[in-house]
Amino acid sequence: MNNIECKENYEIKNLTSFKIGGLVEKIYFPKNQTEFLKLIRGLNNPIILGNCSNVLFSSQGCRRPIICTTKMCNIEFRGTKVLVDCGVKGPLLSQKAHENRLSGFEFMIGFPGSIGGNLFMNAGAHNQSISDTLTLACLYDKERDDIVYLSNKEMNFGYRQSILQTGRYIALGAEFDLKRENPEVIKGLMDRNLEFRKNIQPPLTYPNAGSVFKNPENDSAGRLLDKAGVKDYDFSRVAVWQKHANFIINKGEATSEDVLELMLLMQKKVKNTYTIELIPEIRYIGDMNKHEEEICQELYKKIQK
Ligand SMILES: Cc1cc2nc3c(=O)[nH]c(=O)nc-3n(C[C@H](O)[C@H](O)[C@H](O)COP(=O)(O)OP(=O)(O)OC[C@H]3O[C@@H](n4cnc5c(N)ncnc54)[C@H](O)[C@@H]3O)c2cc1C
Repeated sequence: MNNIECKENYEIKNLTSFKIGGLVEKIYFPKNQTEFLKLIRGLNNPIILGNCSNVLFSSQGCRRPIICTTKMCNIEFRGTKVLVDCGVKGPLLSQKAHENRLSGFEFMIGFPGSIGGNLFMNAGAHNQSISDTLTLACLYDKERDDIVYLSNKEMNFGYRQSILQTGRYIALGAEFDLKRENPEVIKGLMDRNLEFRKNIQPPLTYPNAGSVFKNPENDSAGRLLDKAGVKDYDFSRVAVWQKHANFIINKGEATSEDVLELMLLMQKKVKNTYTIELIPEIRYIGDMNKHEEEICQELYKKIQK
């Protein structure tokens, strides 16, 4: 592992879209799947991160080793198929697919997830999701200490769900099958998606981690939060975004504890108003303090692994 890029006592907040997070003891940046596998096998229970756009990272930092995949960026087009490393960023892949006259990734243009993170979350938007085009996922299976290939069906995709959330597998790469399309049609969809987003999500100049809560069945978390009145929640370091109630923005110096406290207030407000319990979409990563542990028990109903 000697020649794999590693940083010690690294302040992780600048890697995250929330701009929150303390010092991590060691963070590794593999450049390819061989380096990634070496780290997965050699480190003690590492945490895998992609582009850190769906995580709330602890302000206390993290003692577990971290592997960040965003320097793994191989993309290979073979006809309508595309093979990618897990670290490839969605917006770049969306543009490359457009250049290759392939449709299916237009939704990825507007948010910062990596392919590994997108598979983990089954990311989606604008009536498309990553599960629509995935044909094969190349995963490391912790139980078998081996590489396995899972089909789309075996990935157990659901709304913001996939088999990766069981903790057994780590995504190394994936193969997709896209559709030939006129590049102007593709560009039109990408532009429309970007335009639509201008009004419904905060730009990253207001640091955030996307939707705070998942939509309950047949409803919208943003609608419930708005009607419950959470847009009034505006504190010194964190606030609910004025234009869409399912976003929390970091006003500058927010800590993970500030965000968790606000998330709990929002969840309680909707529960008291509608008896609906919203489930967080944002994942907490790192070393919790005692108060955060208590909040997370209540917010997530269990501590995430
Ligand atoms: C402004 C903004 C807009 C957004 N809009 C949308 C949207 O429209 N639709 C949507 O679905 N999401 C959206 N998101 C959320 C986010 O971009 C997605 O959830 C994305 O899939 C996260 O990818 P990531 O690489 O940033 O993952 P990270 O945040 O780095 O990680 C997320 C989870 O995936 C795990 N993970 C990451 N890589 C791997 C891997 N290789 N193997 C196994 N596990 C892994 C991590 O451990 C973590 O638990 C938005 C976020 C922002 C900031």
